[in-house]
Amino acid sequence: MIADTAPIPSPALQQFIAGLPKVELHVHHVGSASPRIVAELAERHPGLVPADPEKLAEFFTFRDFAHFVELYLATVSLIKTPQDIRLLTYEVATDMAAQNIRYAELTCTPYTSVLNGIPIQGYLEAIEDARIAAERDHRIRLQWIFDVPGEIGPNAAEETATIAIDHGPAALVAFGLGGPEIGTSRPKFKPAFDRARAAGLHSVPHAGETTGPQTIWDAIEFLGAERIGHGTSASQDPKLLEYLAVHQIPVEVCPTSNIATRAVPSYQQHPLRAMVDAGVQVSINSDDPPMFGTSLNREYGIAAALLDLDAVGVAALAHNAVQASFLADPDKRALAGEIDAYLIAQGTAATVVSRDGPGPDVAGPAGGPPAR
Ligand SMILES: [Zn+2]
Repeated sequence: MIADTAPIPSPALQQFIAGLPKVELHVHHVGSASPRIVAELAERHPGLVPADPEKLAEFFTFRDFAHFVELYLATVSLIKTPQDIRLLTYEVATDMAAQNIRYAELTCTPYTSVLNGIPIQGYLEAIEDARIAAERDHRIRLQWIFDVPGEIGPNAAEETATIAIDHGPAALVAFGLGGPEIGTSRPKFKPAFDRARAAGLHSVPHAGETTGPQTIWDAIEFLGAERIGHGTSASQDPKLLEYLAVHQIPVEVCPTSNIATRAVPSYQQHPLRAMVDAGVQVSINSDDPPMFGTSLNREYGIAAALLDLDAVGVAALAHNAVQASFLADPDKRALAGEIDAYLIAQGTAATVVSRDGPGPDVAGPAGGPPAR
């Protein structure tokens, strides 16, 4: 459990959130492995994590960031073959679909798997096979973000760019940068991002999670960031908040992850409100949900409580994620239509602002229509 108590919305709003069609833009492939999935992988590769369900559940209970890293690495050690990648990907998509996530841009780190001996072709076939099967079986659509494990350095970035450019599947939409920010200044990764962007990929680096606003400025200037992963320290720099709002660079906010990594000291001090008040387009995301003891539905509930939102305000957050996604416009309109249809079906139609185009880009306060 995260020590700081998470704010929770009313049971009625929680129920509304559970049924709401949602989009997830910041969630990691291996970091989404639930105890159920890890147990299945452990059956194939015994001895690496606790086999007993109770002990495994205990292993998954968030204690501190060091323990999270241990859990993450233990899960990585269970992924040895393309079949493991296929299982992980399909089951992660199944868990997402169970939360009414209709579309996700899932961040994968192929470099790590290649380093662990999985041939790249097998890796790519496995994720694509799982993507197609999940869409067929669970009506969830996935696209890929290939991210660079920043701690390994620019070489990992160059190799990831080469994988993306030479072998990237059609569903690959963006290039990311993760790992610790300290010691991995964003400009170092410019050449790899230049190559990926020239090949048509969008740029979505993590920035300003554990370092200050300068990292976010650097991500924009050197990496051409089109969305910012976390970006929590933007709140320390009013000019940056204004820049993000004016240039419509959305921020992927992951509240519980920020508490878990101590990027933010408490939920009550989370800069989500400051971002929304500054007009920044925020989406709500879950990062590494089972490992931080959370889910996208729970993160929506926390955001609703922090921003004092009602159902219409929560739906506006879902619209933000649709708009910040890399879906084509007709697909965005279709998802936005699903969100509005859900609102109407839930009896909140009277407060829905009628519109032809896509949804609002900033969540409004409770009771009022979503601000534009
Ligand atoms: Zn992340």
